[in-house]
Amino acid sequence: MRVAQVPGPGKQFEIVERPIPQPTPGTVRIKVAACGICHSDSLVKEGLWPGIQYPRVPGHEVAGTIDEIGAGVTGWTTGQRVGVGWHGGYCGRCDSCRRGDLFACETQQVTGISFDGGYGEYMIAPVSAVARFPDELPAVEAAPLLCAGITTFNALRNSGARAGDVVAVLGLGGLGHLGVQYAAKMGFQTVAIARGKDKEPLARQLGAMIYIDSRSQDPAVELAKLGGARVIISTVTSGEAMSAVQGGLAVKGTLMVIGAAQTMQVSPMVLIGGARSVKGWYSGTAIDSQDTLAFSARTGVRSMNEILPLERVNEAYDRMMSGKARFRVVLTMK
Ligand SMILES: [Zn+2]
Ligand SMILES: [Zn+2]
Repeated sequence: MRVAQVPGPGKQFEIVERPIPQPTPGTVRIKVAACGICHSDSLVKEGLWPGIQYPRVPGHEVAGTIDEIGAGVTGWTTGQRVGVGWHGGYCGRCDSCRRGDLFACETQQVTGISFDGGYGEYMIAPVSAVARFPDELPAVEAAPLLCAGITTFNALRNSGARAGDVVAVLGLGGLGHLGVQYAAKMGFQTVAIARGKDKEPLARQLGAMIYIDSRSQDPAVELAKLGGARVIISTVTSGEAMSAVQGGLAVKGTLMVIGAAQTMQVSPMVLIGGARSVKGWYSGTAIDSQDTLAFSARTGVRSMNEILPLERVNEAYDRMMSGKARFRVVLTMK
């Protein structure tokens, strides 16, 4: 099989031939159809995650088909369409797992970091990391839902917002373009906040009822005019942009952070005066991926992708890193 591996920190991807791996107990082998490229793959490419063993095959937006089943695996069959996301499985025995917080498993693995991911024709995945993939969703189109999709979908559905509430999505990139669609389909009064008037038609096409141009308008003031946002989902990586919206939260509103900015400023007065909160959200586990895919299939939420074959992985990665891709970059296998 061919895979795209990172030979060492900071090195270019190389396409290599490897033997097709055999599934170990508790795992399945997946024939990969498509794999999205996520900004977090730079953790592998640049060596920013401690303890990575190289060479490593990244990729945690994997769509494919179960091809072989390891010993002890029940409930899954060969030929079944599946996806694998960031969460690379849980042990079921540690204190976090026993409390039901599978996402925080103390021995948790990360797909494409702890073990080889989806930038290749086959991969081995722990069965606890596998999500069922609806038949009506094309693999290439839906692969990014396994990270960018689940992250926004799961944050929104755990945000405490109810149908009809004002929910703002800050940022209109890889995460934000999905967040706006999910928020609208979930029945929230959906507000998109992005930089520049030119993004407004796209925001509205994705389902935003209100658009705030943060270049010419103050998002906090505009949200306050609507009575304040019950939830603001922040998908941007600028701490400054995140800090600027907190004044637009309604009483008891929540700023939900899913974009990894280095730092942000929070005003204690904003928090205290209206019992407001700032909260982070992880993406989710395999069952959350499965829910994301099913919801997307039913409601028509789709990722907008630029598609390239595996051989062009270096170009595809650079395109993702440039920030110019509209909006996710997906690798396809033959
Ligand atoms: Zn990701
Ligand atoms: Zn555990």
